[in-house]
Amino acid sequence: MATPVAVPHEVTEKTIRGEKKKLVRRTKPDRSQQIRHWVQGLFVALNAWLGIQFYLWVRYYERGGTGLYVPRPAGGEGYLPIAGLMNLKYFAVTGHVPQVHPAAMYLLGAFLLMSILLKKAFCSWLCPVGTFSEFLAAAGRRIFGRNLHLPTWADVSLRSLKYILLGLFVAVIGAMSAEALLGFMNTPYGLMADVKMLNFFRDASMTAVVVLGLLVLLSMLVQNFWCRYLCPYGALMGLVSLLSPVKIRRDEEACIDCGKCAKVCPASLKVDQLVQIRSVECAACLQCVAACPAENALQFALTPRKAQTAAQRWYRRALSPVVVTCVIAYLFFGIVLYARVTNHWKTDLPREVYMELVPNADHLSHPRSVSTGQ
Ligand code: SF4
Ligand code: SF4
Repeated sequence: MATPVAVPHEVTEKTIRGEKKKLVRRTKPDRSQQIRHWVQGLFVALNAWLGIQFYLWVRYYERGGTGLYVPRPAGGEGYLPIAGLMNLKYFAVTGHVPQVHPAAMYLLGAFLLMSILLKKAFCSWLCPVGTFSEFLAAAGRRIFGRNLHLPTWADVSLRSLKYILLGLFVAVIGAMSAEALLGFMNTPYGLMADVKMLNFFRDASMTAVVVLGLLVLLSMLVQNFWCRYLCPYGALMGLVSLLSPVKIRRDEEACIDCGKCAKVCPASLKVDQLVQIRSVECAACLQCVAACPAENALQFALTPRKAQTAAQRWYRRALSPVVVTCVIAYLFFGIVLYARVTNHWKTDLPREVYMELVPNADHLSHPRSVSTGQ
């Protein structure tokens, strides 16, 4: 019988700087990316399910209240971030949960809390657009051999776009009084915001098709093009994520300076040179942690303990991908459940209102006459 060959636990490896450093290999395989991809897949499936229900609900009213009736899925309001922001301000100012699109507010609240606890985990674990972007970047690497990195001046200037967009939304909503916010939400336009969004994609104009096609192509060429440069929702999550006590942290003693973490980082962060990643661009995807070969060198963790060995420093400080998944699930389902049991989840309008507004949603124009109320 063959004698099993002992795998050396410690080896000496050349670093990218050419020095030699002792590598203590990780004892357990990293499963973060398999787990994250499962979570992404399940969330895409949930969104597809909500999308089908919403489409059937709209078709019911478009057919004049005939055919299959499916209740309106309130979860679809997650695609109304502006309504979510307006409602959040209304709730902060008045203490009352708005009756129109309350789910948009609760979902935004859940994702903000997620960002406060787990950096921008929403973007890389849940957001279907983030998942699609990741898929497009991988497809781009297959087709073109690699993704492009824009020069620093272009990258920095383009990154400011999402903050400009966010600033515009925040400025407009910030200037509105509670009465104005309520007034806007209760206009036919506000009531039908989700139907109008569905119609935008159903009856996309040639301009919209060209713009969407261009975004798809750019996302194949440049990793996370939409998320990195244009998404105001991600910009908001990134700013809030600065509060997160959990960050990607590197242990300089355990690290062998191989640079593998920085190479795989989709946000092009210098993970191999910093001791903690504070950046608003870190989406807690854990790809850097998965790529790291050294035990206790890179973690998604709270601040380390003061101790002699890396194992002691990180003892009970690091969050495993299972714990990250549990926190995400707890916040998401916990907040949805809370909204449901307190009867604040659904927008309940009389059937006659939907009968009149849904088939005419395309003809409803933006209520410019709703003033800031100040
Ligand atoms: S630093 Fe790590 S967790 Fe953050 S974006 Fe880069 S690879 Fe993902
Ligand atoms: S932290 Fe980065 S540079 Fe250090 S060992 Fe891990 S992958 Fe290599």
